[in-house]
Amino acid sequence: MKRITSRIESGKPVRAVVVGGGISGLSAAWYLRRAANDARIPVETSLLEASNRVGGVLRSERRDGFLLEHGPDCFISSKPEGIELACELGLESELIGTNPKCRRSFIVSNGRLVPVPQGFYLLSPVSLSALIKAPMFTPWGKLRMAMELFMPPRTDVGDESLASFVRRRFGEEALERFAQPMVGGIYTADPERLSLAATFPAFLDMEREHGSVIRGLGRKARNGAESSASGPRYGLFVSLSGGMERLPQALAERLGPGVVRAGTRVQSLSRDGLTRCWNLTLASGERVRADVVILALPAWASAKLMEGVDAELARRLATIPYASSVTVNLAFEREAFAAGLPDGMGLVVPEREKRDLLACSFSTNKFDGRSPDGKILLRAFMGGALRPDVAELDDGDVERRALSDVRDLLNFQGEPVFARVAKHRATMAQYEVGHLEKVARIQAGAAAHEGLALIGNGFKGIGIPDCIREARAAAMEMIGAVKSNTMIGVNL
Ligand SMILES: Cc1cc2nc3c(=O)[nH]c(=O)nc-3n(C[C@H](O)[C@H](O)[C@H](O)COP(=O)(O)OP(=O)(O)OC[C@H]3O[C@@H](n4cnc5c(N)ncnc54)[C@H](O)[C@@H]3O)c2cc1C
Repeated sequence: MKRITSRIESGKPVRAVVVGGGISGLSAAWYLRRAANDARIPVETSLLEASNRVGGVLRSERRDGFLLEHGPDCFISSKPEGIELACELGLESELIGTNPKCRRSFIVSNGRLVPVPQGFYLLSPVSLSALIKAPMFTPWGKLRMAMELFMPPRTDVGDESLASFVRRRFGEEALERFAQPMVGGIYTADPERLSLAATFPAFLDMEREHGSVIRGLGRKARNGAESSASGPRYGLFVSLSGGMERLPQALAERLGPGVVRAGTRVQSLSRDGLTRCWNLTLASGERVRADVVILALPAWASAKLMEGVDAELARRLATIPYASSVTVNLAFEREAFAAGLPDGMGLVVPEREKRDLLACSFSTNKFDGRSPDGKILLRAFMGGALRPDVAELDDGDVERRALSDVRDLLNFQGEPVFARVAKHRATMAQYEVGHLEKVARIQAGAAAHEGLALIGNGFKGIGIPDCIREARAAAMEMIGAVKSNTMIGVNL
């Protein structure tokens, strides 16, 4: 710390390097700069990104008047960090909500589209009247779900899988026909392995506090909190008129080319035994020295870089599994849909339907400006933890499978105007049972390395606002530590 202080005193900036130019890394660089300005600490930030573009999985493309989203197509607005960042970047006027006329969504049940019933919230009905009206359950299934009101709460405090929780409280049918597809569309996860505590802790709290999820949700609804909940709450999702990639583009522009270095893969990381500086070796052979390093990478990529610094931490990082997913944008003439496109945002497909499709967004309905007049844009979502084989298929095969399922479910005629396949290999962290303990140990391990922060979607949330929140927290903590001279061990 003495050296960092004397560096600042001698007019030299603190050298901060962010590795990874996805939304996590770009946000970290942005908030590092902001926090440093606020604290009046001179910090020279560089962001090193392996690929030739920034944004990571956020990728939008304009083609023939369509706006294609190859990665995420929106983010949740109830977590404020996404909207706050967009506003800070001057993108407020570009924020768009989902189309209010088409806010419902569908679930596939025995090959047919059934609207996600009103009064359901992700895993559970909010009331018995909502349950009675739900078309996708058998009478026995409904009865079993209603019995949730009388199921004793679990006394074991250990983590539990989402499947175990739903099965225990609501029964098998609720899991197969509702919870699995609703959650599959968000986490692309295997519900038998997905940690409830790491993904939907509110349901655990309701069980503990109210003795029943239905009762807990009902009370919240009466208090007005969840009264308009329906399925994956599309009404709460926002995007940008120019596409999601506007966010990383704006960040990169505002940070400037002096900060962002695309096409720069970090090959290895080490620590100088004498100076305690970080040394980053790039794929080009160039060496970069840093006082602080933020790794904003998938956990497996951080693991590789940490191997030479802390083998145990690297091993722990490598235990966070990642799944691959695939999107297929499908563009059509409107006439291809003789009966029209169903008036919703999209559909989710339960695993029990035995299809390749996980979900499909009706992009034309979901957000304005996604397709020209007279055309329709759909986006199929495939792969995930339950279907790792899909990301290994060639693009033509993926396209054929997506089309086959979509044709069957939405009943269109003819062929699409074009199709675009995008594969996202090992980008979706899987929060398996025990995830929170894993993350706590990783954080404790990382804390032993002064001037190091680990962020990205592997730890405390996979959504875009979660990634931004973690990046901001890491940046503020770094600058806070420099400011208060407590960054013990950064002996520069
Ligand atoms: C298909 C898909 C759809 C999604 N939909 C949504 C959605 O609708 N809403 C939502 O909120 N979230 C969604 N998510 C999740 C969310 O988009 C991601 O969790 C988030 O964008 C991850 O950002 P990141 O910066 O942490 O990681 P990434 O975007 O994976 O970025 C990591 C970056 O690090 C770079 N890199 C890797 N190794 C190195 C190295 N050695 N040196 C330098 N650079 C390196 C990579 O090239 C990459 O650019 C979706 C994810 C996917 C894949």
